[in-house]
Amino acid sequence: MPTLNHCRDDFPILKRSVHNGAPLAFLDNAASTQRPRSVIQSMSECYENYYANVHRGIHTLSEESTERYEGSRKSVAKFINAKHDHEVIYTAGATAAINTVARSWGAQNLSSTDTVLLTIAEHHANIVPWQQLAAEIGFKIEFLPLDDFQIETEVVQEALASFQPKLFAFTAASNVLGTSVPVAQWTALAHQQGSTVLVDAAQAAPHQPLDVQAWDADFVVFSGHKVCGPTGIGVLHGKERLLEEMPPFLGGGGMINRVTTEGFKAAALPDKFEAGTPPIAEAIGLQAAVEYLNEIGLTAIEEHEKKLAKQAEHGLRQIEGVRVIGPQSGEKTGIVSFVLSHAHAHDVAHSLSERGIAVRAGHHCTMPLHHALGLTATTRASFYLYNTTEEAETLVQSVADIQRKFAPTGRRRRRRR
Ligand code: PLP
Repeated sequence: MPTLNHCRDDFPILKRSVHNGAPLAFLDNAASTQRPRSVIQSMSECYENYYANVHRGIHTLSEESTERYEGSRKSVAKFINAKHDHEVIYTAGATAAINTVARSWGAQNLSSTDTVLLTIAEHHANIVPWQQLAAEIGFKIEFLPLDDFQIETEVVQEALASFQPKLFAFTAASNVLGTSVPVAQWTALAHQQGSTVLVDAAQAAPHQPLDVQAWDADFVVFSGHKVCGPTGIGVLHGKERLLEEMPPFLGGGGMINRVTTEGFKAAALPDKFEAGTPPIAEAIGLQAAVEYLNEIGLTAIEEHEKKLAKQAEHGLRQIEGVRVIGPQSGEKTGIVSFVLSHAHAHDVAHSLSERGIAVRAGHHCTMPLHHALGLTATTRASFYLYNTTEEAETLVQSVADIQRKFAPTGRRRRRRR
């Protein structure tokens, strides 16, 4: 299997050392990835050479900037195989994209007798916007449960038939469990019941080739900062017909065709959903990011991460008192979450940080999932294209040390009795 270790040199930050000079092992990629030099340079180049506001000026810089901004949209549309460039709406991130769907499509289409179906594994970004809207409109929210950390397609099918949800919104890949779901299959089942489908691809877009036409979901969202791009930009992909029918969410400059004292007429897609000055340099950076990932190859990235996660998971499962929070088999991603019998997740993350290993600890914005699992916090290692087998091994060895350090000694155990 080819390694992707050559990619490390593209990421300047990975050269730095951290605590007491320990080399950095960055395993917090599910929270946010690092940026390759090409992304950083593309943004500097924008600011140094052609930055101006877009879609407004007729001077040279504004024209150049607009052309580059729209060029970015074309690259991103290609990255996810969108049918039309104008189906790609730039938002502030996955969270903003889901809120846009809730406040626009949801407010227009949901009523008090409707049901929205989610899974218990959703990130808060795909729960709270629906709860906020439900508090106003009064629709019901149902959650698909887990069985051995997974949701079987039969369970999805039964829930769709029994709840007849107006919307089925689910994550393509869990940010905790290291699982991914058959998006196209679930979408087809939902469509058979007449449900609209939103896919949260925040943890899928960075790690696998994305084909929104093959998925056929009505809405797909993801964030720039998780695909080696900048913060402050994300994508809402919607089917043209739906986006055309939806009212704009935010109002202001850039999203109008005409404004009078009586009212306004919204602009055509995609501008209708991009009120105000958009993230211009960020769009340029996002284009560089998706082009970088394309060059490496999403299939190679996916294989590489899976290999590292499998190695880490296998090692962690061998350590007495360490429990991996995820299924032993099935479709897995580059995420491994775990708990130690005698150390809190935050203490584990702190101890790992002292060894140069960056992981995330806590509920990872999935409190309902943690509650369903009877946990308050987990430690999560998440791998990306620049991580190495040595880092996976260091993680396992370090967790074994920490478990030894925190486990009660025989003498302490006797005294407690
Ligand atoms: N959905 C999932 C599955 C995530 O993991 C995250 C972030 O961790 C989000 C949504 C929200 O992304 P953002 O904070 O970039 O809007």
